[in-house]
Amino acid sequence: MSHEKSAIKKIRSTKVMREVMAEYFSELDEASRTGSAKVAWCTSVGPAELLRALGFRVYFPENHGALLGSSRVAADVIPLATAAGYSPDICSYLTSDVGAYLSGTTPLTRAFGIESVPRPDVLVYNTNQCRDVQDWLAFYQRRLGVPMLGIQTPRSVDDLSEAIVQGLVEQHEALVPPLEEIAGTRLDIDRLREVMASSLRCTKLWRTVLRLAEHRPSPLTFFDGTIHMGPAVVLRGDERAERYYEVLIAELEERIAGGVGAVDDEALRFYWEGMPVWGKLRENAEQFAAHRACVVASTYCNSWIFEALDCTDPFEGMARAYTELFIVRSESFKQRYLEGMVRDYAIDGIIFHDAKTCPNNSNNRYGLPQRLRESLGTPYVVINGDLNDLRLYSEEQARTQFEALVEQLEERAV
Ligand code: SF4
Repeated sequence: MSHEKSAIKKIRSTKVMREVMAEYFSELDEASRTGSAKVAWCTSVGPAELLRALGFRVYFPENHGALLGSSRVAADVIPLATAAGYSPDICSYLTSDVGAYLSGTTPLTRAFGIESVPRPDVLVYNTNQCRDVQDWLAFYQRRLGVPMLGIQTPRSVDDLSEAIVQGLVEQHEALVPPLEEIAGTRLDIDRLREVMASSLRCTKLWRTVLRLAEHRPSPLTFFDGTIHMGPAVVLRGDERAERYYEVLIAELEERIAGGVGAVDDEALRFYWEGMPVWGKLRENAEQFAAHRACVVASTYCNSWIFEALDCTDPFEGMARAYTELFIVRSESFKQRYLEGMVRDYAIDGIIFHDAKTCPNNSNNRYGLPQRLRESLGTPYVVINGDLNDLRLYSEEQARTQFEALVEQLEERAV
C-alpha cells in the first residue's frame, strides 16, 4: 500500500559538515596553488594515515567521483572518457572523473568555489577494492607525469592469515622511502601513531553514528549516511572529523530521546547492499519514506570502519584495517557479515543494488541473496542501476520492484 509522500527530515549538523568539508577542500586548493604543502591522491581505502603523517594534504578521487554522480554531471562527461578509450562498462567513478578532467570541469567549483582539483605530487593506491583504482590513477600518472605508488592486496580473502598480513606490512613499509623523498621529510613514527589514534577515534565515532540506527525508529537513514560519511572518508586521521561526529551524534541522540525517527511512523526496516545511486539519493530517500520504510543500514556506509587500526604496530594496523574490509573478503565471510547485520538492525528486507559498472560492490551475482533468504528468510529485491551513470538506471523499474517487495512484506504482516 502506498502512503502520502513523506518529507525528508533535515539533519541540522549538515551545516557544520559542509563547513568542515569546505575547509578541507580550501586547504587542498591552497596547497596545490601555492606549494605550501605536498598533495597526495589516495584511493578511498588506501594508506591515508601514512600520507597524513608525512605532511601530505590528502585528496580522494573517489570522493570527487561521488560528487560528479550526486551533481548529475557524470553522464555528460563519461563520453569524453569513452572517446579516450575507457569503456563505459568500467567503473563510472573512473570514467566520470577522467571525463571531467578532459572537459576541464569539476563540481568543486560550484560547491566550494574551487577552480580545479588539486594537482598531485604523488598518486597512491591500494587494489584492496578493485583493479580500477590503479588504472584510474595510472591515467593521471601518464597525463601529469606524477609518480605512482601502490599496494597490491589479495581479493576474496576468507581468513586473514599471518602470511597475508605480513606481506601487506612489508608493502606498506616499502612505501615509506619513496614517500619520504617526495615529501622532503622523514617519517616520524610518533606522528604516525598520533594520526592512527585520531583515525581510530574517528572510526569509533562513525561506528556509533551508524549503530544509532539500531534504534526503532531509526534517527537516520542510509541516504543520510552517504552524505555524513564525508569526513570519515576524507578527514580520517584529522581531529576535525572527530569533532564533527560528536556534533552529529548529539543531534541523533536528541532525536532518539524525543522518539523522532528519520522516517515518520517507521514501519519497515531495510538494508541497502551495494553502491548508492548518487544522482538519485533524494528520490530514493523520498520513495522509501513514502512507504514508511527506513533504510537503516548498509555495507557501503560501514566500509569506513577500520577497527584494526587499534594496533601497537602502526604498519600492521594499516595492513589489517585495509584488508579485513567487506569488499576484500570471500563470499562466505560476506554471508556471515550480512547475517549479523540483518539480525542487529532487525531488517525486514534487503535491497541489492547491482551497479553495472562496479562488480566489486555488487554482491548479488554469486547467489548471496538466495543464500541469505534460505538462512534467514529475509526477502530481497535486486535493483539494476549504477553508482554514477544514470543511463543505466530506470527509476520506474526500481520503484516497481521496491513496491512489490513492500507489498510482499505487508502481506506477511497481516
Ligand atoms: S570499487 Fe567500484 S566504484 Fe569503487 S573504484 Fe572500484 S570499480 Fe569504482
